[in-house]
Amino acid sequence: MTQANVAAGSCADTPVLRQRGQHEVFCGLTSIIWLHRKMPDAFFLVIGSRTCAHLLQSAAGVMIFAEPRFGTAILEETDLAGMADAQTEIDLQVERLLSRRSDIKRLFLVASCPSEVIKLDLETAAQRLSRMHAPKVRVHAYSGSGIETTFTQGEDSCLAAMAADLPTGTDDGLLVVGALPDVVQDQMMNLLDRIGVPNVKILPHADSSNPPAIGKNTKIALVQPFLGETATALERAGASRIVAPFPFGEKGTTAWLIAVAEAFGISAQHVLNVTEAARNRARHAVSKEAEALTGRTVFFFPDSQLEIPLARFLTTECGMTALEIGSPYLDRRLMAPDLAEIPQGPVISEGQDVEKQLDRARAAKADLTVCGLGLANPLEAEGMTTKWAIELVFSPVHFYEQAGDLAGLFARPLRRRALLEVNA
Ligand code: SF4
Repeated sequence: MTQANVAAGSCADTPVLRQRGQHEVFCGLTSIIWLHRKMPDAFFLVIGSRTCAHLLQSAAGVMIFAEPRFGTAILEETDLAGMADAQTEIDLQVERLLSRRSDIKRLFLVASCPSEVIKLDLETAAQRLSRMHAPKVRVHAYSGSGIETTFTQGEDSCLAAMAADLPTGTDDGLLVVGALPDVVQDQMMNLLDRIGVPNVKILPHADSSNPPAIGKNTKIALVQPFLGETATALERAGASRIVAPFPFGEKGTTAWLIAVAEAFGISAQHVLNVTEAARNRARHAVSKEAEALTGRTVFFFPDSQLEIPLARFLTTECGMTALEIGSPYLDRRLMAPDLAEIPQGPVISEGQDVEKQLDRARAAKADLTVCGLGLANPLEAEGMTTKWAIELVFSPVHFYEQAGDLAGLFARPLRRRALLEVNA
C-alpha cells in the first residue's frame, strides 16, 4: 500500500460541512443501466413500484430487439398484508423467468424504497433461490433504494454483494474494481499489460463462470470513487487496497498507474517510459480545452461521488478554482489522495440541504456550476452556467485517451454561454 502525498496548502485536512436535509439525486436503480452491459449473463429483477418501473424504462429505453436483462416485479400496496405470499410470489416470478431464459447465469434481486419492499427480506430470498437454482444460477440481493443510495452507490451495493461471494485464492494479481465502458477498459488493460502488471482481473467480471479469486496476495485498485462498501468487502476477504488518486486526466492516470506498478515492484520510471506518448497526447488534448477553463471558478453540487476527483482534475490540470465541492458521501479513505492535491480554499461539503446549498451557489456566483438535472434548468434560468453531473457518469472519461474529452465536457457549457452573450 502506498501513502498519499500531501501538497502544501491542500484540502487534505479541510473540515467537512455536513448537511442532512432534502437532497436531489437519482436513486441506485439507475446504475442497472450501465451494470447490465458489463455482465451479459446477468438479470436485474427490481422488486418495486410502478415508479421504479417507469424510472428504468425511461432512463434505459425499452429494448425492442433484444431480450431485456432487467425488469420490475411490481408490489402493490395490497400486498402489504401478506409478506409470506410476497416471498412465494418472488419464488414464482423467478422460476418463470429462469425457465424461459437459460442465458441468465446470475440474478440480482434489487430492493427499492416502497415500504412494502423494505419489509421484505431479500437477502434470505436470494440465499433460498440460490439453493433452489444452483449450480446453474447464482442469486444475489442488494438495495437500489433512493432512501439508502444515490445513483452511483447502486453499483457499490451490487459489487459488494458479489464481492462477498467470490472464491478465495492465493494467486498474486491485481483486481481492478469498477465498471468502465468497454473501450476504456481495453485501453486500461493494454496499459497495464505494457507496464507488466501480472494477472489482471476485473470486477464486475463479464463471465460468471470465471470469477476472480480473492486472497491475501490480491491487490485491488478502484477506478470509481464510489466503491467504499465493495472495497471494505474485498479487504475483509484479505485483499489489500492500492492507495491512489483516481485515473482522471493525465496526472491522475499517471499517479494511478505508478501506484499500481509500485505495488508489484515495478518502478515509476518504467511507467513514465511506457506511457510517454499517451501522456503527451493527453496533455496536449487537455491544454486545448483548458483555454476555456483556466482562471474560471467551479461549484459542485453533490451528485455522482465523482466530484472530488473531478475537482482535482479541474484545479490541477485545467487551471480552474473550486469554490465548493459537494459530495453525497465523503469516504476519506478513498478520497485522501485527491483531496491532498486540491489547493486549499473550497468548501468541502457532504450530503445536502438543497435550499441552503442553492443560497451558497448563488452567493458564490461560480463561472460553472455542476449539478443534477433537476437543478440545472432553474439555475440556467437565473443566468448561471451549468453542467449536468450525470453526463460525467455516462461518458467515457477515465485514462489518457479520454482526458481531452473530459476537459471538453466542462469547457462546452462555458463556450456555449460565451456564444450566447456575443449573439445577445
Ligand atoms: S427505488 Fe425509490 S427513488 Fe428509485 S424509482 Fe423506486 S421509488 Fe423511486
